[in-house]
Amino acid sequence: MHHQIPPANDPRRAAMAQAVSSCVHCGFCLPACPTYKVLGEEMDSPRGRIVLMKAVLEGALPLADAAPHLDRCLGCLACETACPSGVRYRDLIEPMREDLVARRPAADRLQLGALLGVMASPGLFRVAAAVGAGAKPLAPALPAPMRAMLDLLPARLPSPEMPPALTAAQGRRRGRVALMTGCVQQVLRPGVTAAAIRVLAANGVEVVVPAEQGCCGALARHAGDHAGGTTLAAAHAARFPADVDAVLATAAGCGSSMKDTHTGGAPVLDVLEYLDRLGPVTPLALPEPARVAYQDACHLAHAQQITAAPRRLLGLVSGLTLVPLAESGLCCGSAGLYNIEQPDLAAALGRRKADAVAASGATLVVSANIGCLTQIGASLAAAGHAVDVTHAVELLAMALPRRHGSQ
Ligand code: SF4
Ligand code: SF4
Repeated sequence: MHHQIPPANDPRRAAMAQAVSSCVHCGFCLPACPTYKVLGEEMDSPRGRIVLMKAVLEGALPLADAAPHLDRCLGCLACETACPSGVRYRDLIEPMREDLVARRPAADRLQLGALLGVMASPGLFRVAAAVGAGAKPLAPALPAPMRAMLDLLPARLPSPEMPPALTAAQGRRRGRVALMTGCVQQVLRPGVTAAAIRVLAANGVEVVVPAEQGCCGALARHAGDHAGGTTLAAAHAARFPADVDAVLATAAGCGSSMKDTHTGGAPVLDVLEYLDRLGPVTPLALPEPARVAYQDACHLAHAQQITAAPRRLLGLVSGLTLVPLAESGLCCGSAGLYNIEQPDLAAALGRRKADAVAASGATLVVSANIGCLTQIGASLAAAGHAVDVTHAVELLAMALPRRHGSQ
């Protein structure tokens, strides 16, 4: 797209202009965009947003006029997957989010900073989540953003689990990895880390879990705090040993952010990506047959282009029938703080996902990101669909032979 954006020395600003110029306005991205699917408005599509951001960068449109449409963007990056011209939409929306946050009133920014601070600290988040879980009966009387937050919390938090610092490989050692535990995941679903350790060890991988990992900064970066998120990411990366084959993420959002910010040491991989490359050798069979729908987490499928590996792994499990899920690459409405910032759109996308799951006939939905698991679980419950939700690595752990699964 031809533009008149002033040249910039800042590489991030230069990348914004590059993203604008590589868009040919073809519209192939429109059907992939969740907000366009729900709202049907050009300005709430990737192409429309690129035009808006171009006008803002050229100085032809005040940011305030573009803000409502840009704020509705989930940052799911489905538009990048769909784009035949290779437009790096993330290069545009991420720096623009910083400008969007900077124009908000100081009280809003303080509130956002406090929320991010709580979510980045498992200790604080556990206290806040426990208070929130207790306040769930009050949810109907609360404003939509607070109601949305409470709806995502389970009625009872799982007990905290402290993963061992080192778990030995079983049988012949085939690898050695370090595992990220995640902030929110540690509180809402600590079983994911435990399951990853069991599956890795059963397949001959030694697992190191550094204590006090801190936050990888993914939520902060997604919310428009690039500098804060990058600082957190650097401190987080420094806590991992270098003498491992890879640092593994079990939350797609964390893995994607760490891949973007990682500058040295062992490579960052998603746990499913690593297991698929390794080739599991332990037989996998579910105790009870299950019809499974796989939902692509946006930050795995679109940000990291990992779609085949999880399906290949699930294909190794006997007793598991993988059923097609309509719109499996469409965002479920969970995207960082999106439920709080855009509760109506998040709920509409959650309902759409819950209905697609119900129509698939699945008895279990599998995904690879704590945000998706939480949002889909809450949306299924709200729609009255009795379908369980689990992380892919939890399902693999369930399918281990008993002597591995029970360890
Ligand atoms: S598909 Fe790519 S090139 Fe076409 S309008 Fe969308 S972003 Fe632009
Ligand atoms: S990132 Fe997602 S919500 Fe935003 S424009 Fe792209 S497809 Fe639409």
